[in-house]
Amino acid sequence: MPTETFEFRVEARQLLQLMIHSIYSNKDVFLRELVSNASDALDKLRLAALRDDTLDADVSDLHIDIEADGEARTLTVRDNGIGMSYDEVAELIGTIANSGTAKFLEQLRQADEAADAEGLIGQFGVGFYSSFMVADEVTLVTRRAGETQGTRWSSRGEGTYTLETADEAPQGTTITLHLKPADPENQLHDYTSPWKLREIVKRYSDFITWPIRMATQAPAGDDGDGAAAREPETLNSMKALWARSRDEVKDEEYHELYKHISHDWQDPLETIRLQAEGTFEYQALLFIPSHAPHDLFTQGYKRGVQLYVKRVFIMDDCEALLPPYLRFVKGVVDAQDLSLNVSREILQQDRHIQMMHRRLAKKVLSSVKGMMTAAPDRYATLWREFGPVLKEGLVTDSENRDALLAVSSFATTHDAAEPTTLQQYVERMKDGQDAVYYMTGDSRESIENSPHMEAFRARGIEVLLLTDPVDEVWTDTVAEFDGKPLRSVAKGELALDGDDEVKPAEDREKRNEEYAELLTWMKEQLGEDIKEVRLSSRLTVSPACLVSDTNDLTPALENLYRAMGQ
Ligand code: ADP
Ligand code: MG
Repeated sequence: MPTETFEFRVEARQLLQLMIHSIYSNKDVFLRELVSNASDALDKLRLAALRDDTLDADVSDLHIDIEADGEARTLTVRDNGIGMSYDEVAELIGTIANSGTAKFLEQLRQADEAADAEGLIGQFGVGFYSSFMVADEVTLVTRRAGETQGTRWSSRGEGTYTLETADEAPQGTTITLHLKPADPENQLHDYTSPWKLREIVKRYSDFITWPIRMATQAPAGDDGDGAAAREPETLNSMKALWARSRDEVKDEEYHELYKHISHDWQDPLETIRLQAEGTFEYQALLFIPSHAPHDLFTQGYKRGVQLYVKRVFIMDDCEALLPPYLRFVKGVVDAQDLSLNVSREILQQDRHIQMMHRRLAKKVLSSVKGMMTAAPDRYATLWREFGPVLKEGLVTDSENRDALLAVSSFATTHDAAEPTTLQQYVERMKDGQDAVYYMTGDSRESIENSPHMEAFRARGIEVLLLTDPVDEVWTDTVAEFDGKPLRSVAKGELALDGDDEVKPAEDREKRNEEYAELLTWMKEQLGEDIKEVRLSSRLTVSPACLVSDTNDLTPALENLYRAMGQ
């Protein structure tokens, strides 16, 4: 096949421009990205070989090589992993495959300040393209394990890239960076210096479970022959962080592992560790991200943590390990007694996995509970980002319902800025108030302007303001908190202190008689649209309001079910 030249898509071009002019100050991370991709490729190959023993691939010495040439100013990162086919290169490298990048660009379009752009890169990361921060030309040669034909991709990052077939490509992927001219002012950025490379790998990629090797020149004066003088040195300790004792691992190390498995460039909000001993032994290292991914509520969202068996990577996105409402949690679970061939279907039914699932869910919830007192700011971030997902659990996980209610917080009429927990609400309840009141709606403003709120405002009774779509659903399932019923201000009859609705029945009957004619006339006029017309003391300003029966669907829920075709 002849060499073909392609144009980058507009977004890719934009992104590359940013990389070339490298507004992001921490350029060292390009190596982390390349090593992370290489490590993924090695994981994938080992797994493919495990699953398919007819795969014609060499898995005898899986590793990553780093090679620098100070004179030619090149840096090469090579892995002998899964590699890519011609089509995969065209798809994965030629366009912007990674979804975080799509979101990044969307935000970039809204931000025009360079400073904003730098912040955004730090937030989303740009994977492979980050090599253009330090290189003015990048060449990638790859051959998919089991295939004979290789592929060569090359670009200077400026508008176009070339693709061609390569005959002599080794299995896996070799990426060669032609580094930008050295900055004599700043030796710190010399990416051909073994010292520098060693330091970056140690800092960002120490936990990578594959050896990262670098061939270095023997010190001057060493009389070894050429081969011995370039004895490769392994740069990383390869120790699985979850298998090391807690006080031996620095927070930064956990954070780097998080970034590797989540493809997030920001530190996690919380790190959670669990070591289970006994008949079914496993270690878990879980992370709560500091921001919600944009696709958390879409069908295709890949939930779940990575599953390892005795340090061997088995699968990404293992959804059997955590309930759907914890789908934002990232991390690693390493089990001692599972088959390396375990499938998703088997995992769903395995009794030990089900126990692990329950234990991990409880552990995450108790960590969130701990954050509420130990780190209220971080808890507030967590709730802002993930509250709407966690509340799904109030509907689906009856076993953990109380634990979920305890870590939930809600907007309230009590305070315009600070949300409240149910516990705090109950502590503030007025004498004689026997229920927790809430109202659902589209926005705080629309709820506060609702006529339903008048009686509560007049009596100084606090109301929770629930505006997430899921609020319509869980408030239907959760009957009470701490023995106090949860009651919508928009449903049924209210028994507020001092109301005529709690006055003796004959009193109300008398008034009903007085107004009987009017009520009958109104009922006739409104006909089928309503069930009943009643006198009420709900209102202080508005003349009338619509009330649902306690068991009726709220308007929003009716819409939801209708949309679902029920
Ligand atoms: P991400 O790693 O977040 O998916 P990248 O830009 O780092 O985004 O990489 C894009 C894709 O290119 C990867 O998902 C992977 O499919 C492919 N890729 C990159 N590097 C390698 C490699 N060394 N070996 C095999 N595939 C790779
Ligand atoms: Mg990557």
